[in-house]
Amino acid sequence: MEEEEYEQIPQDNSPGELSQDPTGELSGGEREKRQTPKSLRLLLVGKTGSGKSATGNSILGREVFESKLSARPVTKTAQTGSREWHGTKLEVTDTPDILCPRGQPGAAAVGQALAACAPGPHAVLLVAELGRFTEEDLRAATRLREVLGEDVLAHTVLVFTRKEDLDGGSLDTYLRETDHEGLARLHLECLWRHCGFSNRAPAPEREAQLQELMGKVEEILWENEGCCYSSKAYQHAPQNSLLQEVQQRQTTQGQGSEQVLLQGSWLEGRAVPDSEESTNSPAPAGEG
Ligand code: GDP
Ligand code: MG
Repeated sequence: MEEEEYEQIPQDNSPGELSQDPTGELSGGEREKRQTPKSLRLLLVGKTGSGKSATGNSILGREVFESKLSARPVTKTAQTGSREWHGTKLEVTDTPDILCPRGQPGAAAVGQALAACAPGPHAVLLVAELGRFTEEDLRAATRLREVLGEDVLAHTVLVFTRKEDLDGGSLDTYLRETDHEGLARLHLECLWRHCGFSNRAPAPEREAQLQELMGKVEEILWENEGCCYSSKAYQHAPQNSLLQEVQQRQTTQGQGSEQVLLQGSWLEGRAVPDSEESTNSPAPAGEG
């Protein structure tokens, strides 16, 4: 298990503050024993144009990542931005399409994305457009499992952008009633964790969306005792051709750059203490 710096959760959490007791069933003493990481890493993945960068900006509450409609991928490399959220540092890593890349096969891009949120994400946000869920989105989910391991979906929240298209309707009902078999199955595999984002909504609405998302992240933390996903990803790495390719490149090309060393630290599943984490974002996009 990784060694992260933890802090005790105050007994009386203010609304929106991360609690490790979503059911409210723990006594104060038991609740106090639970811990939450001081920083939470969220990894945005999904096909190009799904709204990853826009969602990252909504979460961060400012324009950090370039987001625009384009026939070609706008996001070229993984970037991390951060903000403070109710006493927790939220680190959000935006990625190019590392799962179904249209251009070059993305071994290096995968390694870079993983390094950007080393030693591992606490939650993965799989982003798709509401009402436009396609085979490409399903392929992205399949690839996500291949790259990070089967268990990753237990750390994943399905994030649907263009929530405004519901016209005030319920996302829960939409997903419950969908006749898209692939989407229904994926939803189940993600333990019914979903969240809607309208990235063009006014700031207060976007903060409310973040609040809802963090409720899902809180569930994931609760189920995993605050641990991030790195050790499990490592467990799967030996069967994973993409990650093996990254490893191979490191040895054959003899690259000595900081970025490659960082890829190594992920692939070795090494626990990276908080003090080292500041060097783990190859393309920091700003502080919150
Ligand atoms: P990425 O390639 O996944 O990073 O997608 P982008 O964040 O660049 O978004 C692609 C396009 O979708 C941009 O024009 C965004 O403004 C638009 N977009 C993203 N989220 C939403 C949303 O919730 N509502 C609407 N109307 N447009 C969105
Ligand atoms: Mg983008």
